[in-house]
Amino acid sequence: MSRYADIVLPLAQPAYTFAVGEAMEVRVGDAVAVQFGKKSVYTGIVWRLHDIPPRSGTAKPILAVVYDKPLLTELQMRFWEWVADYYMCYVGEVMRVALPSTIKAKARCEEEFTPYIPKRERTLRLVKEACNDEAMAKLQRRAPKRYSVVEALVAAGGEIARSALDVDATTLNALCKAGFTEWGERDFVRDIARTKTLLPTLSEAQQRALEELRKGLSTKSVALLHGVTSSGKTEIYTHLIEEQLAKGNDVLFLVPEISLTTQLVERLRRLFGEGVTPYHSKLTPVQRTKIYTDLISSNGGNLIVGARSALFLPLDRLGLVIVDEEHDSSYKQTEPNPRYNGRDTAIMLATMYKAKSVLGSATPSLESFANHLSGKYAYTHLSERFGGVEMPEIIVSDTVRNVKRNERKRHFNKVLVDAINERLERGEQVILFQNRRGYSPYMECPECGFSARCPRCNVALAAHQHQGRLVCHYCGYSEEKVTLCPNCKSEMRPMGFGTERVEEAVAELFPQARVLRLDGDTATSSTAYNRIIGAFARHEADILVGTQIVSKGLDFADVTLIGILNGDNLLTASSFRAEERAWQLLMQVAGRAGRRDKRGEVIIQTSEPEHHIYSSIGDYEQVATRLLNERKRYGYPPYTRIVRIMMRSHNSGVLVEASISLGERLRNRFARRVLGPVTPLIDRVRGEHRVELLLKIETEASYARAKAILREEIAKLRTDGKAKGVTIICDVDI
Ligand code: ADP
Ligand code: ZN
Ligand code: ZN
Repeated sequence: MSRYADIVLPLAQPAYTFAVGEAMEVRVGDAVAVQFGKKSVYTGIVWRLHDIPPRSGTAKPILAVVYDKPLLTELQMRFWEWVADYYMCYVGEVMRVALPSTIKAKARCEEEFTPYIPKRERTLRLVKEACNDEAMAKLQRRAPKRYSVVEALVAAGGEIARSALDVDATTLNALCKAGFTEWGERDFVRDIARTKTLLPTLSEAQQRALEELRKGLSTKSVALLHGVTSSGKTEIYTHLIEEQLAKGNDVLFLVPEISLTTQLVERLRRLFGEGVTPYHSKLTPVQRTKIYTDLISSNGGNLIVGARSALFLPLDRLGLVIVDEEHDSSYKQTEPNPRYNGRDTAIMLATMYKAKSVLGSATPSLESFANHLSGKYAYTHLSERFGGVEMPEIIVSDTVRNVKRNERKRHFNKVLVDAINERLERGEQVILFQNRRGYSPYMECPECGFSARCPRCNVALAAHQHQGRLVCHYCGYSEEKVTLCPNCKSEMRPMGFGTERVEEAVAELFPQARVLRLDGDTATSSTAYNRIIGAFARHEADILVGTQIVSKGLDFADVTLIGILNGDNLLTASSFRAEERAWQLLMQVAGRAGRRDKRGEVIIQTSEPEHHIYSSIGDYEQVATRLLNERKRYGYPPYTRIVRIMMRSHNSGVLVEASISLGERLRNRFARRVLGPVTPLIDRVRGEHRVELLLKIETEASYARAKAILREEIAKLRTDGKAKGVTIICDVDI
């Protein structure tokens, strides 16, 4: 028996050595409880067993083995190690996203893996007698949030698991106190639909695409399915999925946004029944633990639909990974470590399991498209929509000219106003897109130029009308809205416009229209999101005003007009990806129009109608080729790979010196591949100053070697004492 175990804890720390008790049986991959620090008990994973005592001090004993089975297989351990190594973080940080956890409120470091598998679950029940019409009408008026819970309970037949209710405890307790509901308990049920229908017959074009995919995947491990919106990509996936499930293999279906899982899971359950499991971070730790441990003892045949964290589930018989909307930037985790890209990590996972990957998109990322051009990926293109629905007509409308001619009303050019009126008359639906939430991005004094800024972040505070407050979109700070300038007492004016202000303008210009708004402020939970989407799908509203959220995966039969209120602010981002993102977003938003029997129309308002982004939106190849040429010329991905080195500190003096010093060190090793230090656009967040450096590595060079040198230089900077109190974070593949 080995006497020591190296244990990975859910911390930004290396593995620590603990002693294995005489009578204790410990295996690699086991979850064990250990004491770390003065008081904290953590669950850690046994990474290595050996007989080498620690170099200093004595090893503390392992307290207990938490589960009767190891939580990780060898292969999963190699996978975690790959993620940590590639994305330059600790394996312990990978553990944080990989395993379900209860996050303790105070510090990130105090996270703990719950060694608890539920048999019973808490529920909320409706007290039917209390819910008479009069009481309900009153509740609806006075407390709409509470009322919506009662509505949900009625719809579900009177009882819902607490964990399935995305509602705060205060609201639920208030309902119980008022006698409308009560707490209950029942056996844990995994809600599973059992009906099963046959897969839909594919159209000729879809059948051809499916065959091309199959053929491509017989020789290559990754295939790119490039299919315009509504071409039936999902239908094609289902055929690939069925083959795998029939073989008893597991399938992982990744989507970029949690909100998209609900509808997809419903659709897939109708085809595949019980084995379809959603998995994402909005599930409770208890639900996630249940799924995780069930999978350990499963024998394959599972279909998991999830966000990127589903990559870490124990799927021993993984046969296929699907990455839908593979171009979506939400696949990249931006905060905290591991800052991994779900798409790229999925491909690595599939490779380790000798499984296949299928990437799907109407607007493939330039990276994936380049991999197709170079022959690395198999590729198939579906250029027509299912049922022959035409692509929408795109109209670019000149805002400046409208203003000059006095034809602009509030935020609407004449052509858009006319088009909306036409739709309203015909009983069709409209989506209005504006990628800013809130009322206006900032308030400004017209006399002295004063605008309120966040005291903790170097940004202007956004105005939110309904709360009458100014809010920081970076840290959540908010303050009372001032109407008069504190300097000169002039009346403050809202500058620019967000979705709230659009909603207000719609109400004024189209008083007969029913309006819904979908953005970060209204879609605060998946229940709220589904309520809004559901209502619009049932045509309970004529106009949907929304941010990016409306561009993703939605399918409304009656929408025949999309208005993009301000194309200009799609292009203001400072990233080298700004134009790619803007173009993909325009194409995705446009794809929501005219999905069934009606040809749609997309109206883009802009002050720069000549901008080349508008000239060829619909021609994917042409735009992709132009952008790829630009990337090549200026040395950006996919022709280089970029690590962003972010440095943060409360002490700006130390920060500046540390960053200059690191910049010099890196330039000695990498010469002109180092850019910066520069101050990012938002140079202070939550009181911390920020500086960054970029390291650009040619694709032909060894990325691993470059990152090793980078690690070395950061370590030296620390031992020199030049970076006291400076947080240094590496973001790989920005
Ligand atoms: P995409 O994922 O490419 O946007 P979907 O798979 O969601 O497209 O298909 C768009 C719409 O067309 C859906 O409502 C879908 O049910 C329908 N559809 C696509 N292919 C078929 C088919 N072969 N048979 C029946 N309906 C189909
Ligand atoms: Zn002023
Ligand atoms: Zn702030």
